[in-house]
Amino acid sequence: MNKVFLKSGREKSLLKRHLWVYSGAVARVEGDCANGETVQVVSSRGDFLATAAISPASQLALRVWSFDENENINADFFRNRLQAAKDLRLTMQIPARTGAWRLCASEADGLPGVTIDVYNDFAVIQLTSAGAEYQKDNMLKALQSIHQWQGIYERSDVNIRKYEKLDQRTGLLYGTMPPELVEVNEDGRRLYVDIINGHKTGFYCDQRESRSTVQKFANGKTVLNLFSYTGGFGVAAALGGAEKVINVDSSAPALAMAEKNMLLNNIAPERWENIEADCFSFLRKCRGEKRKFDLIVLDPPKLVDSMKNMTKGCRAYKDAMLQAFHLLEPGGILFTFSCSGLVTRELFSKIACDAACDAKCTVRIVSDLGQGADHPVPCSFPEARYLKGLMIIKGE
Ligand code: SAH
Repeated sequence: MNKVFLKSGREKSLLKRHLWVYSGAVARVEGDCANGETVQVVSSRGDFLATAAISPASQLALRVWSFDENENINADFFRNRLQAAKDLRLTMQIPARTGAWRLCASEADGLPGVTIDVYNDFAVIQLTSAGAEYQKDNMLKALQSIHQWQGIYERSDVNIRKYEKLDQRTGLLYGTMPPELVEVNEDGRRLYVDIINGHKTGFYCDQRESRSTVQKFANGKTVLNLFSYTGGFGVAAALGGAEKVINVDSSAPALAMAEKNMLLNNIAPERWENIEADCFSFLRKCRGEKRKFDLIVLDPPKLVDSMKNMTKGCRAYKDAMLQAFHLLEPGGILFTFSCSGLVTRELFSKIACDAACDAKCTVRIVSDLGQGADHPVPCSFPEARYLKGLMIIKGE
């Protein structure tokens, strides 16, 4: 195994069990390394620190596989990691509640670059780092060994692969092809997932807990579900007894699926409406028409994807919340979310506070929301906590 020497003093993060080393911390690489090959990371004095995958083209030069010098990075290693990941979900009783859950959450499960989502007996795998790609065969063997899957499908069609010098890839890796729509049951909600063409691996299972929370508070309410995607929050609200649900999204295919999902749950047609629109414009239009809602869900895509976009993204979060506060009845509830890892919970609360000030209303945060236990957060890798949400009640 080739050795990678770090610069003096740059071993600190690995000693604290963080999983990343940036290229600027690398002093020299012994020998020629293939993209994603396993290397031994050592301090400037040559002491063992970790076994890692190397991405020579990436700023994120090294991603740790193991801190144990005696652990070989082979199919057994991946099987152990995946089994541990599965056991954690079983401990947290996730598969008992839902057919849609994350089996492996990349760094959070000690497997940087490996995301695996489960939809009933189908596994959908997404590989985003050179190391994960290099280990694909081992990973596949490991995944097959922990469950009898009907099929394993790859959705490595993400832009970030270019930073790792990897092409995008999708297709069947094992078993039978997933059907056009897989129906999952999430806490009693029946939802279709499109594994082949849907966003990411098909579905946002990270919002499960919040969908269930919305369901609890929706009875009798008029609900505006912004950035609805396939209508998960809308179905939750309707099943929770909402009088009327409006799903808004800019994607026609997402809304077509939202319609299928409403019908699948037998929600009467007069109780819901799907609108294809830009949510920011739609909010303004509603304000112009003086429309009011009892409950609003605001779950935009990642609006801050880099430090460069921080100000712009935060403005967009604030603008959406400001408009939403205007549309809420007094006593109304806003569920607002951010999946931008760079936006901390504190910052997100501050944005909500600024939006309320500008809307000239008093609001109270009554609950903190976030990702489910199938998106765990290692103490040494706080970056894994990317999804935050606030349940806010508007006062007078
Ligand atoms: N709440 C959803 C997930 C939302 S993902 C769930 O629980 O499943 C974000 C969604 O926002 C995507 O469906 C995307 O099509 C939509 N979107 C992105 N920008 C938009 C915009 N400006 N206006 C309306 N929808 C937008």
